[in-house]
Amino acid sequence: MKYPFPKVDLHFHLDGSIVPEVGWRIAQEEGVDLDIPTYEDYIKLTTVPPLCTDVFEYLAKFGPIVKMMQTREHLTRITYTTIKRARDEGLFYVEIRFAPQLHCEKQLTQRDAVEAVLEGVRKAAVDFPEIRVGIILCCMIELYDNHEENMETVRLTEEYLGKGVVGIDLAGGEDSVPMAHYADLFVDYHRKGLPMTIHAGDNGIPQNVATVIDWGATRIGHGKHCWYDKDVMQKVIDNGATLEVCLTSNIQCRTENSYQEHPMKKLYDAGVKVTFNTDNQSISNITLEDEYDHAINDLGFTYNDLILCNINSIECSFMPEEDKPAYIEKLRSYLQ
Ligand SMILES: [Zn+2]
Repeated sequence: MKYPFPKVDLHFHLDGSIVPEVGWRIAQEEGVDLDIPTYEDYIKLTTVPPLCTDVFEYLAKFGPIVKMMQTREHLTRITYTTIKRARDEGLFYVEIRFAPQLHCEKQLTQRDAVEAVLEGVRKAAVDFPEIRVGIILCCMIELYDNHEENMETVRLTEEYLGKGVVGIDLAGGEDSVPMAHYADLFVDYHRKGLPMTIHAGDNGIPQNVATVIDWGATRIGHGKHCWYDKDVMQKVIDNGATLEVCLTSNIQCRTENSYQEHPMKKLYDAGVKVTFNTDNQSISNITLEDEYDHAINDLGFTYNDLILCNINSIECSFMPEEDKPAYIEKLRSYLQ
């Protein structure tokens, strides 16, 4: 392995990181209604070109994949094989997120979907003890009224916290609906001090980052647009919030122009806590090590910076506080 230290990925979507061979086999076995006669067609349908027109072209890739994730058996199998691949890539901790409401097209309820994914996590824990997994449940920004579905996701997060689920998120097309529309989902949740990471400041305005910190988010999905509003950036620093940066996803979605112009290193140098993540390994066709290559070759990070960012990941992760020192110590032992 090119980077021998143990790695962490905190921003890792289950659907976007489906192992392609597994998705393809499910499509074949189940006769999923997609026009994909060959594996090459499957890959073309579910992965993006190096540059999309915009974030919505990227988001459109999820549709066909989600069609393969509508039964308990498939959700369990996809979760298990995705964790196996993460283990094979040298990750020792991963937080995998998914939106239960997207898996209710056939007979499943959101609860069924959560149970099926947790079953995959349990099976993987037996076979791949080297990697620890936490599940984050995503509420969704949708153009239709899905308030009830989102409320159900919040309820399930609270119920399953500590039983495999570690936190909550809000995902979808940022700014296609104003963020304020979703504030009431998180009021009670925040009052109880529960773990929250929210997608904000990716394709949307920097102010969204400040908004979700007020909601109680200690982590921001992407969040790098705070670089363009120094008051917001200061708020991120003052609150000790951590950014889950996903370099390649940002370039492909055109929310940043190029790796060289990406503000991640400038944010790091300014004292913002940043972390490296893949977002959607399969849709983007990348690994975490590919992201490290870009960090070093295009952004100017050092080898030790990568380890320090992994320590940031553990510090802001949603694993129990008492478990963190052992992971951090292990990472420190790789500093050169
Ligand atoms: Zn994401």
